Amino acid sequence: MSKISVVIPAYNEEEVIVESHKRLSEVMQKCNHNYELIFVNDGSRDKTVPSLQEIKSKDDHVKIINFSRNFGHQIAVTAGLDNADGDAIVIIDADLQDPPEVILDMIQKWENGAEVVHGRRLSRQGETAFKKVTAKAYYRILRSLTGVEIPVDVGDFRLIDKKVRDVLCAMPEHNRYIRGLVALVGFRQEFTDYVRDPRLAGETKYSMKKMLKLASDGIFALSYTPIRIVTFVGFTLFVLGGMSGIYNILAEIFDWWDSFVLIIATFAMLSSGVIMLSVGCIGEYIARICDEVKARPLYIENMLKDK
Ligand code: UDP
Ligand code: MG
Repeated sequence: MSKISVVIPAYNEEEVIVESHKRLSEVMQKCNHNYELIFVNDGSRDKTVPSLQEIKSKDDHVKIINFSRNFGHQIAVTAGLDNADGDAIVIIDADLQDPPEVILDMIQKWENGAEVVHGRRLSRQGETAFKKVTAKAYYRILRSLTGVEIPVDVGDFRLIDKKVRDVLCAMPEHNRYIRGLVALVGFRQEFTDYVRDPRLAGETKYSMKKMLKLASDGIFALSYTPIRIVTFVGFTLFVLGGMSGIYNILAEIFDWWDSFVLIIATFAMLSSGVIMLSVGCIGEYIARICDEVKARPLYIENMLKDK
């Protein structure tokens, strides 16, 4: 009999964790495979850990990975994958926005030969219009910048075969954008459509800062287009600078000088803005290179004593 691992990252999820375990267990008992539920506590400061310990004391299917601090959702998922020994692994949020029942459909597709089954959102309930619009725009920009076929309307709710998990775990990069990495690895990829529910309780744990970090990781990890844009803008400015130099000389000769000083000043400001933006863009790549060179651990565990 095969085994399915379910990875559930959780950060301050005391309000949902018990219900989440209950719904996931009900579903997994129906799937005709062995299973394990791997909860990754990403440095929660609420009662998530005691609740998880309580759950684990009554259910042998449960494993807990406990981080020493908050490392972020993508790293929590990575730790879950590192510790999963199933033949297939499902990644699902703790807040029940992704209905666990969909997992059965994913497993069926996997049994029929799929090696990656993405959960694709037909609609997203209970999310702000701002989030929906920015997410839609972002994925389209990401696709055009990177050329990687990152599926649209897909998050991290998916099933992956053990071989895909092995490939992902062998990628040691620090600033991880898992849905991008999955798109890169190939294999037979299929979809399961579902309607994304509102969060069962509590607030989103993805602050604006975390969302921007994830968005920039997606772009800088998968694409060199931003740096090529910098080269292009630099070249354009060089040509414009040359033209304005010629223009200045002509203006001097024909005595038009005064009226153009203002234009030149504006141009100088504009170009220093572009230069700073370019340096920032290069800095994003350099910072990521620094992360790799430092080679710090992706996460630090803090072993829990059994209750
Ligand atoms: N999460 C995490 N670490 C974080 C932020 C979020 O492990 O730093 C978990 C969170 O507990 C949830 C999942 O990642 O299980 C998705 O987060 P959330 O539901 O808050 O994001 P949203 O659905 O609002 O984008
Ligand atoms: Mg959520």
